[in-house]
Amino acid sequence: MKFATKVLHAGIEPDPTTGAIMTPIFQTSTYVQEAPGNHKGYEYARTQNPTRNVLQNNLAALENGKYGLCFSSGMAATDAIMKLLNPGDEVVSTNDLYGGTYRIFTKVFERYGIKFNFVPMHVPGTIEKKCTAQTKLLWLETPTNPMMNIIDIAAAVAAAKSMSALVCVDNTFASPYLQNPLDLGADLVLHSVTKYISGHSDVVMGAIITNDAGLNERLQFLQNACGGVPGPQDCFLVLRGIKTLHLRMQRHCENGQHLIDFLASHPKVDKIYYPGLPAHPNHVIAKQQMRGFGGMISFTLKGNKMEDALKVLSGTKLFALAESLGGVESLIGHPASMTHASIPKEEREKNGLLDSLIRLSVGVEDAGDLIDDLEKAIG
Ligand SMILES: *Cc1c(COP(=O)(O)O)cnc(C)c1O
Repeated sequence: MKFATKVLHAGIEPDPTTGAIMTPIFQTSTYVQEAPGNHKGYEYARTQNPTRNVLQNNLAALENGKYGLCFSSGMAATDAIMKLLNPGDEVVSTNDLYGGTYRIFTKVFERYGIKFNFVPMHVPGTIEKKCTAQTKLLWLETPTNPMMNIIDIAAAVAAAKSMSALVCVDNTFASPYLQNPLDLGADLVLHSVTKYISGHSDVVMGAIITNDAGLNERLQFLQNACGGVPGPQDCFLVLRGIKTLHLRMQRHCENGQHLIDFLASHPKVDKIYYPGLPAHPNHVIAKQQMRGFGGMISFTLKGNKMEDALKVLSGTKLFALAESLGGVESLIGHPASMTHASIPKEEREKNGLLDSLIRLSVGVEDAGDLIDDLEKAIG
């Protein structure tokens, strides 16, 4: 099955009791047993829910994986993966990381004796340099947030295999439509389903996909033991959102390119960060491992003044000023004062995250309207 067919059909069957073509919302906490231990595979809804099962199977298929597990948020999914580790284990991760991931690593799991190294993973050779005999996990995010760095997944996998560490790729920014890390040898794929997969800014959810039966079993144990599961209504909404994932992603990519053309010719725009630009330092790798470049764009303004950026941020009408990304409607954000404000200015600037950096999540509206909106705001 090709992607456009999978989003509609993989793991999804009409309801056997009624023929309902849409997966029912099994809004139940428990299931009646005929005799103790004699049940239909469902005992308690933290452990299994039929609506969730369908979504998990569909997500697994979209990532070319065998197993999918859903969690109450992307962070709950991250939490489960970290609990695969033991005190003394080390993690090597990128230095341009989703803020919440950086927070759970440094503020939660460091206290449990896990050590984290943050390195510019997009620079070839840096991963190997930081790895030790204790390194048990490589944590990749590509493209990164907000600098849109691209990490070579296959090269990271090769480095990890030589010391039997696991590789997890946070594939939220690309979505399974643009990139499938399991195909490149990654052990685990993580999604904030909240973003492109759900796509309508109305659900918070996370997912993990793997091909490894042993890892899946340990993660399923953690999903049930720790309890960060999504409710069936949210699973239904995500199943509904996924049906148009390919169509939305196509438009996100097209609109992204239109916005890039506009920004590249604007006299007030300085640097543009987008993996689809031939001048992007990792463009060649992006072309190899991605099928398109998506709708996430960061750019800076000439002169690098915070107040100029803030004027743009409050000047747009279609681009809504908000955190998050990946929804059908366009969003605009300011990492220095919003998502990355907790990182000291010198640290931010070391990674290129300047005060005038603006991040766009380009939606699926008319590209001309989006350009007009941004043009008026930049002035
Ligand atoms: C949003 C996000 C997360 C966290 O997901 P939640 O669903 O908000 O918990 C993790 N990684 C990336 C790249 C994200 O954008």
